[in-house]
Amino acid sequence: MIGLFVIFVTGFVSAQSVSAQKAANLVRSFVRDSYAANESEAAGIHEVIPKKYEKRYQEWKTEFLSTDIGRTQWEMYARHPRLVLTITISGSNSKGAGSGKYKWNDAGELIAATITLGSEVDRGFPSSVYYPVMNALEPFQSARLIGGSVLAATKLAHEFGHVLRISTTPQELYSLQVQLVPAYNKIFLSNGHNVNDPQLVDMAKQMGGNPVEIWEDREYWGEANAMLFLRDRVEKEKFHCRLFAKIKQAVEEYARNYEERFAEIAKEQGAVYTCGWR
Ligand SMILES: [Zn+2]
Repeated sequence: MIGLFVIFVTGFVSAQSVSAQKAANLVRSFVRDSYAANESEAAGIHEVIPKKYEKRYQEWKTEFLSTDIGRTQWEMYARHPRLVLTITISGSNSKGAGSGKYKWNDAGELIAATITLGSEVDRGFPSSVYYPVMNALEPFQSARLIGGSVLAATKLAHEFGHVLRISTTPQELYSLQVQLVPAYNKIFLSNGHNVNDPQLVDMAKQMGGNPVEIWEDREYWGEANAMLFLRDRVEKEKFHCRLFAKIKQAVEEYARNYEERFAEIAKEQGAVYTCGWR
């Protein structure tokens, strides 16, 4: 989740001054060169877990697999005909997680992705502004109604949400965003933060939104999947309506444009009736 932000903020120096059209052309050759697919690795889930993190990883994975949605999504990737999904744990950004290293084949199908979990993802709550679901767990973990492994599994679900979403995103669009976002930011920072700059308007149009819109859309897809996981996980817990109310409040406050995405999940669960989600 945080990795994406870093990409958007820091970007690539090489894209700094190219025009949008030039960038689009660059992207095409960039795509051919650097995404040459390595199809030799067997499809499925590859867990690359350092020995010292093995025990905690198994706890988090067990928590994820304790739900229908977790099992279904895991099975889908474990038996996937093409995609190599690598899951690993890293000591850096220890309370965060991220996904990336995407690769596509010549047919435009996603064939590789990597999810990296921090070594302490069972702790640390990201802000409710972009993470209304993960953030909502905070009071329940503080009150010891849930353990850290639920938070860790929720973060894993958030990353699965990114991978699910990217597999339906055209490779060219994704690559165009990777290329144009830094160029956009560079102009934005030098033009007095004017989003109405015709060049920026044109770039945003090409890549499907300005960098913040692209970023929040991605994060809210991650959060929607995190909510699907929690829907199953807390279904029988007494506090499940309180948790949904907290998510709803944050969504209404910060993610109005994306409310439908979360409301759909609440509706499926029946929370619209039992918890008053409208
Ligand atoms: Zn994310």
